[in-house]
Amino acid sequence: VLEIRDLHKSYGALEVLRGVSITAHKGNVVSLIGSSGSGKSTLLRCANLLEDSQQGDILFEGEPVKWKGTGAARRPADRNQVLRIRTNLSMVFQQFNLWAHMSILQNVMEAPVTVLGEDRAEVETRARDLLEKVGIGDKCDAFPAQLSGGQQQRAAIARALAMQPRALLFDEPTSALDPELQQEVVRVIKDLAAEHRTMILVTHDMRLAADVSDHVVFLHQGLIEEQGPPEAIFGTPRSERLRQFLSATL
Ligand code: ATP
Ligand code: MG
Repeated sequence: VLEIRDLHKSYGALEVLRGVSITAHKGNVVSLIGSSGSGKSTLLRCANLLEDSQQGDILFEGEPVKWKGTGAARRPADRNQVLRIRTNLSMVFQQFNLWAHMSILQNVMEAPVTVLGEDRAEVETRARDLLEKVGIGDKCDAFPAQLSGGQQQRAAIARALAMQPRALLFDEPTSALDPELQQEVVRVIKDLAAEHRTMILVTHDMRLAADVSDHVVFLHQGLIEEQGPPEAIFGTPRSERLRQFLSATL
């Protein structure tokens, strides 16, 4: 679904991604782990073109992103392509980012109706089903502030799913939550993995990464230090840095 080849990204003089390649195959879950500042969020934001990158390729369903300019001046060349990629790679953020002035149902319906121009009645049926699926079917008419953090994050996941994306990108979806609320979000992510949704998951929750991933990528200072199946990454880590990282997170 998504392939990133040798991606480079700098903020001014700070090189945040120094040639990173990852592939998310259809139906697979790829987890990104690594210390704070290693470039995990930046990689996700570059992947769905929220952020520009200076070098390397991004391929969505085999179709390479078209660029104009090079280096620091490189930008996506085709607006329609950007929109298509963005709507097909739905992001879920650490801070749920729900619209405070809209009900939960309106939050879930908003983008399919306004961005994709879909039929309101159809979207509403889908939105109600999705809220049911994530376990907050009774909260359709509530406003975000009336929900717990775990419920808000589940609403944000329903909102991402409402776009019927080809893949979901999660950036530390459980980090802002108390431990007991994390579990309800973990449950939803596990359900999605069991349905073979394509996902890229940035997480500090090593148990979650071990449970749901087909492939785990350990980033260190903008480079892939080690990658492999979860059994290898968590069971028999080869690099000293990965071993240190894992022992520090336990
Ligand atoms: P964390 O686990 O803390 O979320 P991360 O791996 O997601 O970390 P990034 O957010 O990708 O790390 O940041 C990588 C580096 O890029 C950091 O050094 C950060 O300070 C820097 N950075 C991120 N966003 C910007 C920005 N908009 N402008 C300048 N520097 C940035
Ligand atoms: Mg981050």
